[in-house]
Amino acid sequence: MEQKAKKNNTFAEVGKVLEEAKKILIFTHVQIDGDCLGSATALCRMLRNEGKEAWILMDEEVPGYLSFLETDYCLIHPKENHKELLEGADLCFAVDCSDPGRFETLRDLFLQGPKTLCVDHHSTNVGFADVNYVGRDCAAAAEVVYKLIRSMDKTIDPVMATAIYTGMVTDTGQFQYSATTAETHRIAADLMECGADFLKVSIEVYQSHTMARVLLKGRILSELELFADGKAAMAYVSQALLAELGATMDEVEGVVEELRGIKGVEYAVFLKEINEDTVRVSLRSKEFADVSAIGKQFGGGGHVRASGCTFKGTLGEARTQLKKAVEEQWKALSTC
Ligand code: AMP
Ligand code: MN
Ligand code: MN
Repeated sequence: MEQKAKKNNTFAEVGKVLEEAKKILIFTHVQIDGDCLGSATALCRMLRNEGKEAWILMDEEVPGYLSFLETDYCLIHPKENHKELLEGADLCFAVDCSDPGRFETLRDLFLQGPKTLCVDHHSTNVGFADVNYVGRDCAAAAEVVYKLIRSMDKTIDPVMATAIYTGMVTDTGQFQYSATTAETHRIAADLMECGADFLKVSIEVYQSHTMARVLLKGRILSELELFADGKAAMAYVSQALLAELGATMDEVEGVVEELRGIKGVEYAVFLKEINEDTVRVSLRSKEFADVSAIGKQFGGGGHVRASGCTFKGTLGEARTQLKKAVEEQWKALSTC
């Protein structure tokens, strides 16, 4: 049975939890993106400015295109390398995470926290922490973080402004996706006035691609498939292709948006082979389809126009099953 979403706590309640905590561990989701890391670094900086001890935990490296953010706050592979720093924490704080499964290997560490807090914007988030604020109408978790920091009456310095702006610009596809609102633009304008280095974000995130990445994208796109009456586009990346080109998985960022960019395409599906029996799936829709419903069918979730899941099976099985799920939804939509 589907779990009913808990009522949001207020920003005042979230602020109180943060004011009371002394040592805070911030959790992001796996496959780190600009929104979770931008949000986490801005919050970590705010907390440290208050004299608190705060760290961001992650069981993977920071992707190259985000390394301009305050990565000194990050404890990489914390369970192996930073055991002493994990001790004595009084708050585990999740940002941009729809459910504890999104922490993968750090799930238990989060849930064992003496107190848990979650600030997010995913519609599928039911409120898994002790205290929750899910801004379902916000285009990015960074937008929620901005509102929270403003409600706490804390200063947003240029470094924090740049980090929050990064979250907003990346999660809205440079202010193009349908979740973008007038409020999103008002917040972005305020961040620019706070000193956000928007040009740096543009260059680091969108204009610093490696040759390997450009070549990889070309190879992936050359094999894309259209189906469901041309309404769906699917592409995939295998470990073999990465090895052949000497590329890494973080270099495929943006491929799913290319698929959605095809005229007439409503559904975009991009499959990343992690290993023999694990495939990460990214789903996007353009105007009317609900891809969060498809993500959910495979144990994932997300938003109506952008969702994902981790598929347990081979790349071939993932291709077949995702194709079937999209075709079924399209058939139901086109016949009603
Ligand atoms: P991605 O395609 O990885 O950028 O993810 C698109 C959206 O789906 C993001 O908002 C994610 O938070 C969400 N998402 C991706 N993978 C999962 C998953 N395994 N479970 C729940 N939500 C997910
Ligand atoms: Mn995210
Ligand atoms: Mn997000």
